[in-house]
Amino acid sequence: MTDFAQPIPMRGRLQPSRESVIQDSHLHVLDHPLATSLVTTLRNSSSPSHEFEWAIHELTQHLIWNALTDEPIENFDVSGFSGEPTPGTRFRRRIALLAILRAGLGMVPPARALIPDITTYQIGIKRDEQTLEPRCYSSNLPESFGNIGHLLILDPMLATGGSAHMALQQVRQRFDGTISFIGMLGAPYGVAQLLGADPTLRIFLAALDDRLNEQGYILPGLGDAGDRLFGTL
Ligand code: URA
Repeated sequence: MTDFAQPIPMRGRLQPSRESVIQDSHLHVLDHPLATSLVTTLRNSSSPSHEFEWAIHELTQHLIWNALTDEPIENFDVSGFSGEPTPGTRFRRRIALLAILRAGLGMVPPARALIPDITTYQIGIKRDEQTLEPRCYSSNLPESFGNIGHLLILDPMLATGGSAHMALQQVRQRFDGTISFIGMLGAPYGVAQLLGADPTLRIFLAALDDRLNEQGYILPGLGDAGDRLFGTL
């Protein structure tokens, strides 16, 4: 249950404290000196876009390793060094990516470097900067997800949760498998909104930040992730 004991208003909406969401068992936040050093590169407004992209790359891969820790596997044999059948494993179900445009695109290459044949969908969602309401302007989500069992939603920033919530709603109309949200920074407000909308969702973040400012940006945050990635500042 979300605790609003220390409410901080954002346009009249109460924001939960960091402490009240970090305990949720569906939220996984990296706790490692390498992760905090990479997050520092993201936060540093002097980091050039190629360094920013590199830090996103490293963190995305680490987060996906974590998201797939309990992924079911099956055994199969390969022809090994000695020519004898050698036991190996592979994922039992298909995994797919859903990148939320535009910033989620920066997380696709590192994800595909880990799982090269992974099906990759995109959804374009833009938030209205006045109302903070999301609007979907493009989607190539399929009618049916077939035998896909685990979908990884990629978006570096979980701020108000509006875009991720819209993506989640569209997916859940036609998919009842496992969904993991993979992001760099999250605000307690967005985390609480998403877990409230779908308690089965798992969220993997590099860091859980303090709050949103009045413009719906994450603090301390890193600014606009799309602009930082693609050099459009
Ligand atoms: N999107 C961003 O790129 N940054 C934020 O802080 C919030 C949303």
